[in-house]
Amino acid sequence: ASKKAGKNTFHFYTRKLGNVFCEHFLLGQDLRIGFESNELEVHYQPMAEMATGAVCGLEALVRWRHPQKGLIPPSKFIPIAEEIGIIDSIGLWILRRACLDIKQIQMRSKKGLKVAVNLSAIQFQNKNFPRQVQKILRDTNVDGRFLELEITESAVIKDAEHTIQILKELKAMGIQISIDDFGTGYSSLDYLKRFPLNNVKIDKSFIQRMDAEDVIIVTGIIKIAQHLQLRVIGEGVESLEHLEFLREHNCDLYQGYLLSKPLPFENICKLLEERSSLEHEINLEEWRSA
Ligand code: C2E
Ligand code: MG
Ligand code: MG
Ligand code: MG
Repeated sequence: ASKKAGKNTFHFYTRKLGNVFCEHFLLGQDLRIGFESNELEVHYQPMAEMATGAVCGLEALVRWRHPQKGLIPPSKFIPIAEEIGIIDSIGLWILRRACLDIKQIQMRSKKGLKVAVNLSAIQFQNKNFPRQVQKILRDTNVDGRFLELEITESAVIKDAEHTIQILKELKAMGIQISIDDFGTGYSSLDYLKRFPLNNVKIDKSFIQRMDAEDVIIVTGIIKIAQHLQLRVIGEGVESLEHLEFLREHNCDLYQGYLLSKPLPFENICKLLEERSSLEHEINLEEWRSA
């Protein structure tokens, strides 16, 4: 009987694995079609200056509006896009969308607003990437100064010399470079020195857990980054406690649900309008009381 059960268990697992594999495969097929039929959307999450509270940039975060499965987060389909070899075209599409949208916003009101776009490590392996970025900036009439590209340590470790070369080409266009999720994975302090970076984004896990060790690590990262003339962005700020902690430790910018969740373009436009009138009122208050 035990032999029989063992056999059944084995059968059960292979079937289960088979299903997972199959689902993954089918999702890849869906993604090819979905991308071509415009099912991807770019949402935006604001970043604000710690000192003034003013929104100074937006991070572009991609989503997939699957006709049956609903909104699928990037963690579920970016790895598939990488596997099936369509991340380059998807990545360029996201970048173009983000540039078109930031141009709209800049023309409407917020002239100096920046947009930050996440890159996959694979996009760095393509040496045409800087030229493709330049073309998108030209086509959309966006100044490179208003674009930030976010990379993670996985892009950095694959081939450091090659990555540095590409980053230099991007920086020559005025583009800013941020290292994302800093403090997790294989991120090494050495990168802060060797790579031509502008910003360090502290991973949200530190800010959200905030145990005694996290406090020491975050404080240390902020100090080191600032001595290296890098700007520090705190991610995942959900509460006033998180905000106060980062402010006390001289973090430059923050991002998180406390300010806003990532929103579709139309909603982010509304949020910016509301906030800019609010900021205007606050300025008037200051002016009156001065
Ligand atoms: P990330 O670049 O570190 O983005 C921050 C993630 O944290 C986003 O998740 C955002 O929605 C979430 N987040 C922001 N504030 C808070 C908060 O206060 N609390 C919590 N719990 N979460 C917060 P999302 O949009 O699911 O993106 C996950 C990751 O997927 C991103 O991490 C990024 O690595 C990747 N990704 C997103 N968009 C793109 C893209 O266009 N291209 C590539 N290659 N990767 C992308
Ligand atoms: Mg990011
Ligand atoms: Mg991050
Ligand atoms: Mg991340």
